[in-house]
Amino acid sequence: MSALTLSSPVGEIKGVGEVRRRSLSRMGIETVEDLIRHYPRAYQNRGDTKNLKEVDEALTGERREAPFSVILTVGTEPTAKMIRRGMNILKFRAFDEFGTVEMTFFNQNYLKDVFRVGSEFRFWGKIEREGRRLCMTSPIYEEVKGELPALVPVYPLTTGISQKFISGIIKTALAEVSESIDDVFTKEFCEKWSIETLPSAIQKIHAPRTIDEMDAARRRLCFEDVFMTAAALATEKSRGTGDRAPVFENTDTKRYVDSLPYKLTGAQVRSLREITEDLGRDVPMRRILIGDVGSGKTAVAAGAAYAAVASGYQCAVMVPTEILANQHYEDLKAIFTPLGINVALLTGSLSQSEKRRVRSVLSGDSEDLTGGIDIIVGTHALITEDVKFEKLGLVITDEQHRFGVMQRAALAEKTRGVHILAMSATPIPRTLSLVYYGDLSLSRLDEMPPGRQKVDTFVVDDRYRDRINKFIRTHARAGNRTYIVCPMVEEAEAKSARERAKKSESDPEEMANVILTERDSGGANLRSTVEFARETALRLPDLRVGMVHGKMKPAQKDAVMKEFCEGNLDVLVATTVIEVGVNVPEATLMIVENAERFGLSQLHQLRGRVGRSDRKSFCILVSDSESEKAKERLAVMKNTYDGFEIAEYDLKMRGAGDFFSPEGRIRQHGDAAAMITDSDADRATTESAVAAARETVTSDPTLSLPENRKIGERIARLRGNIENTIS
Ligand code: ADP
Ligand code: MG
Repeated sequence: MSALTLSSPVGEIKGVGEVRRRSLSRMGIETVEDLIRHYPRAYQNRGDTKNLKEVDEALTGERREAPFSVILTVGTEPTAKMIRRGMNILKFRAFDEFGTVEMTFFNQNYLKDVFRVGSEFRFWGKIEREGRRLCMTSPIYEEVKGELPALVPVYPLTTGISQKFISGIIKTALAEVSESIDDVFTKEFCEKWSIETLPSAIQKIHAPRTIDEMDAARRRLCFEDVFMTAAALATEKSRGTGDRAPVFENTDTKRYVDSLPYKLTGAQVRSLREITEDLGRDVPMRRILIGDVGSGKTAVAAGAAYAAVASGYQCAVMVPTEILANQHYEDLKAIFTPLGINVALLTGSLSQSEKRRVRSVLSGDSEDLTGGIDIIVGTHALITEDVKFEKLGLVITDEQHRFGVMQRAALAEKTRGVHILAMSATPIPRTLSLVYYGDLSLSRLDEMPPGRQKVDTFVVDDRYRDRINKFIRTHARAGNRTYIVCPMVEEAEAKSARERAKKSESDPEEMANVILTERDSGGANLRSTVEFARETALRLPDLRVGMVHGKMKPAQKDAVMKEFCEGNLDVLVATTVIEVGVNVPEATLMIVENAERFGLSQLHQLRGRVGRSDRKSFCILVSDSESEKAKERLAVMKNTYDGFEIAEYDLKMRGAGDFFSPEGRIRQHGDAAAMITDSDADRATTESAVAAARETVTSDPTLSLPENRKIGERIARLRGNIENTIS
């Protein structure tokens, strides 16, 4: 067999047959390189061993579900017994100087020869007390011979792939190819900025000897991600220097402000002034407007759009989803029609002829809409498609965080010489704001419109199902509406999670997985979105239940959304497609299923979908997770209503070994940056990555020096990929 290279198909690794090759492929692993880039999603800290006295104390205190690591000596000869057909149990005792544990293994009689009396093992798993005895069932065991690794990686898996198997092939692959891993950074560069080289980082992410090593590896991967982002923005900026934007001659927004049915808050007035000052200059505005859900960003953005139109320019408003595009279109039309300003919509679901018509009016080639189009609302396709503007002066993007930095860079390239206003409700941690917003001016809405009421929030488990359903009915009877949000789960995933949860009772490797997935409910109750909607509809036969999910066609989604908005549905079961920006004032109840699977900031966004009128609103987070950490996270939602506070808490809660996406792999550029925590060390890493990027781009703006060539190629590729995917 020929030697493995990075590009070898995984099928060439010993032990990977056709069936497993297909399983790996389902996780996106085709080549050896994909495999070694399949990072652990967590680590078991088996090095943190406790003696049985400590275990005893821990069990006496609060109920602890976390597994223990104990080093024990086998004290009695294992005895095997058949308890029923097809079920054998093996029992023995193991001890340390403080006590004894009763060990039980199922259907593994061959272990008789492994656990020899007097030999020493490290056992890892749950310890329970039965009467006065300590017991372990099917723990993970390793004989103590030489040094045992303290940190054991836990990989994301799929059906047909076990931990043992994937760890094994990763080890094999690393041993053969680690020399040939290609680093975008030179050795000198890595030394200068005190980061690991890529081969070393990959080695350490899979087999760290200490937490420090794992952390150094993680930081190197983050450094690279942040560096690429910052370098992309810096090259963009250097290309854009000298660009001139149109000066808006008429930035007095009084007529617009006076037409609003409410008085702007102080923060809105201040932000609008900051924006109009920028618009009156010939330097292209690059500004972000940040404000919590419901703080009234739209009214500020509309003020900017008004200034553009009043000065004779067109304004494009871009949002991440069609639903949101429709909503913004309706809102802006309501605001601007009385002022004699034309608003149009351009989305993928318009018919070809409608699209053609809108485009030709937009470009000024046709006049069939009296006065042309002043403001156009659409998805990102607005910019990527072949759309021409007669006189574009301002681009507004809403829910900026959904787009990502690389998309922003791509957009910036297409909108040179145009003013840009971005909006986001997602507070970005200080550590990252440097990267994401480093080149943007900032306006902040730190004040809520008056009269906002707090959305009462509860965390409950599945036992409350009947009461929840009753509550939904009460709301429906009062003419109010309910959202039920569940995580995007496919049929196959839900099934395999349930099977895994069942299997975990007897399989220690699987048990380890279940324990360590903080955001995982363990799987026993995981339902697919479709299944869930069906169940809900069955449980509420007297109500009108609709469903939207990410896999539906935009037109289908919009149709259901419209029914819900118009009050033809009482309940909308949805995946997170409704997370951003949707505004249905009659919605007063938000129920989130498997709430532990959502990030806190996401939950905050979801909660922001209700409480949008003077009707009393509620948010119910349903979770069956047993994990203390999950419970603590959800409790935060009950006690805090401030989006910034919530985001900061979320970040602090990320601990060592909890950085990786559930899928493990950094699939997209930007994913690594999302692993960054708010620790001092991470802040230092981020700052030095940004400094390195700026220095590199300043000294070599075209990134064409030999030592920077790979960096330049990488950025070009990232940008190209993104341009192809945003439409
Ligand atoms: P977000 O910042 O989440 O995008 P929106 O712009 O959708 O918030 O505003 C939320 C709601 O608050 C809208 O119904 C809007 O009409 C209303 N609103 C905005 N500004 C004010 C204000 N100053 N006073 C009262 N209501 C306001
Ligand atoms: Mg909004």
